[in-house]
Amino acid sequence: MQTIRGTRDILPSEIKAWQDLYIKSLKILNIYNYSEIRTPIIEPTELFLRSIGNTTDIINKEMYSFADQGQRNITLRPEGTASIARAFITNKLYQNNQIQRLWYIGPMFRYERPQSGRQRQFHQLGIECIGSSSALADVEVIKIANKILKQLKCQPYKIEINSIGNQEEREQYKEELVEYIKSYKHDLDIDSKKRLETNPLRILDSKDIKTQAILQNAPCLNKYLKKESRQHFELVCEYLNTLEIPYKINTRLVRGLDYYSNTAFEIMSDQLGSQNTICGGGRYNHLIKQLGGPDIPAVGWAIGIERLLLLINQNKSYIDPEIRFHIITSGLKAKKKVWHLINLLETNDIKFNLDLSNNSFQKQIKKANQCNAFSCLIIGDKEIEDQTITIKWLKEHYQETILYNNIINYIQKKSRIVV
Ligand code: ATP
Ligand code: MG
Repeated sequence: MQTIRGTRDILPSEIKAWQDLYIKSLKILNIYNYSEIRTPIIEPTELFLRSIGNTTDIINKEMYSFADQGQRNITLRPEGTASIARAFITNKLYQNNQIQRLWYIGPMFRYERPQSGRQRQFHQLGIECIGSSSALADVEVIKIANKILKQLKCQPYKIEINSIGNQEEREQYKEELVEYIKSYKHDLDIDSKKRLETNPLRILDSKDIKTQAILQNAPCLNKYLKKESRQHFELVCEYLNTLEIPYKINTRLVRGLDYYSNTAFEIMSDQLGSQNTICGGGRYNHLIKQLGGPDIPAVGWAIGIERLLLLINQNKSYIDPEIRFHIITSGLKAKKKVWHLINLLETNDIKFNLDLSNNSFQKQIKKANQCNAFSCLIIGDKEIEDQTITIKWLKEHYQETILYNNIINYIQKKSRIVV
């Protein structure tokens, strides 16, 4: 049996990294007063049609959509922001507090060609700061992304930012851009040719060398920004300067989703080959209204967890650093007594592994070695008779027999030495 193409199991040997990421992110997000939110993985297809945009890759070719038994059109969420905006509206979260700081983590689904850093089921960690149009909010979210990436030791990376202006400014720019590119139409790559009709801004994203050369002299989006958009962007940059967060302005940066406006940013690493974007985000001032909610601005980002872990795991390997005791018994009396021992260990937060076999001492000790235990706690007939317990230290190659009643004391003292 194989997993479905583009999906994979996250095995126990990898899960430490996921847990570490969750715990560290949770701590940081908590300090910034972000609350976790969990929304359904399935949503009405219409939610994504109305938010992400008809001419985007996600809507055109990447959605996992199906009709359920009741003939409802359903889609496995391809991203988090649309669902969060929907949840914000459905639950009238704006009634309690104008500002909602939310974060999420979970699987997303896109029908893409699987390769390193690109899967069909992948995971995102994302945050949304809803309710403020201030540049403070833009910089708060960028600062948090920066903090999380730093904390997880995933450097080096670079932050690129741009302003894609408001709808009106973009429309005007689009016209000029199309006008310019049209005369080079025949030299464009196939995708860009299509995008000339459907989504010309995305041509700026093209990785094709010939298209990039054409773009060299194309009109620049920032020339089309009016005072308000320009000022907003300047403030964002200024705050980032104050914080000494390094960034680069990339006037070609546009995002793949329609709902963005003003600030757009990406965080990338050059250690990931072609799937080099770890985090993508920006401002979406009109999405909530567009989905039938109040007119409330927002800004947020999403980090691709698999790509982030690819990067982190290049630098370190996870080993189980905890001291773990392998419990070995022989005979029915010992097997009955072992529950008392287990209760003791449990109460004292001492990690253990009960050997479930009926094997000989030797075989059970071999097993302990295989599973990397620090030491064995052994109860056999002799120990039952003498009310003792034997501790065999595997790496140090020695063993001691002590009074059973002293076991916790003994372990705690020894653990301090071993650590
Ligand atoms: P790309 O250009 O790489 O397709 P995107 O613009 O489609 O990225 P976003 O929608 O901004 O990506 O999603 C945010 C992040 O989620 C990406 O930067 C990336 O780290 C991750 N991501 C997106 N699609 C996938 C995927 N198919 N597999 C793994 N991670 C992904
Ligand atoms: Mg994509």
